[in-house]
Amino acid sequence: MNDDIFEKYHDAGVLAAKILSRGAQGIRIGASYLDLVESIELQVQEEGAALAFPLNLSLNEDAAHDTASPGDERVFVKGDVAKLDLGVQIEGYIADTATTIDLGNNSLLLDASERALGSAIKTVRPGASAGDLGAAIQQEIESRGYRPISNLTGHGLVRYILHHPPTIPNVGINGGVILEEGMVFAIEPFATTGSGHVGEKTRKEIYSQVSQKPVRTPVARTILNTVKNRHGLPFARRWLSEKKLDIVLPGLVRSQVLHVYPVLSDIPGSLVSQHEHTVIVTSDGCFVTTRSR
Ligand code: MN
Ligand code: MN
Repeated sequence: MNDDIFEKYHDAGVLAAKILSRGAQGIRIGASYLDLVESIELQVQEEGAALAFPLNLSLNEDAAHDTASPGDERVFVKGDVAKLDLGVQIEGYIADTATTIDLGNNSLLLDASERALGSAIKTVRPGASAGDLGAAIQQEIESRGYRPISNLTGHGLVRYILHHPPTIPNVGINGGVILEEGMVFAIEPFATTGSGHVGEKTRKEIYSQVSQKPVRTPVARTILNTVKNRHGLPFARRWLSEKKLDIVLPGLVRSQVLHVYPVLSDIPGSLVSQHEHTVIVTSDGCFVTTRSR
């Protein structure tokens, strides 16, 4: 990796860490999801960077892919376990980082995903396997009496590409990709009181464009024109002002122009925590781009 690219990853990471930790302080009982999400997303723009994906705000049994909807009236309540997952990009070089805020009595659950992340980061070095990281994550989470979510994973990051090999499992598997110096990836353990497996909810707020094929209707063309500066990175329904989005967006998914990311949830009533950092593999370990400095 040349110095210029390293600097972009570094700067995206510093910014993401700063905005995430400041944003987390806005999660209080009675605060509005919509105000919080919009204020954090605005800070990224004001710093001259761009979002790698809409700010994910997922509560309780929802592990990932929720965000505020247009006009969202939800507010935080006592007992909530809120995951904030922020992606910042500078010219396509992505920093992906997440934290969990507890409005209840769940410090051990939060500790599980946070310690799992720390243990996985310590395991990173050239020659280690992705499976070694998964084993470290699983051990930390299970030793505290929770389950890791096995069908959510960390992922490699490549310019303008959010999910690229290597896959970083949250459970110990045999083998997996052998890590090499210069690889960039996100590690994101999820700890849960539920089944350890997420499924899709019907709620859908986040999309990405996956095909350049022509679309028929003027409204579909306007939407694609609005999101073309995303370079295929995800966008939120909330970012669009067109009418009839509830009809047009599912149509574009059916015609395979858009991909949709439904909210991913463990069983009702369960609680999920998540911690995530982006790392660059170095000759003897890794550099954590998103660590608070
Ligand atoms: Mn993330
Ligand atoms: Mn991620």
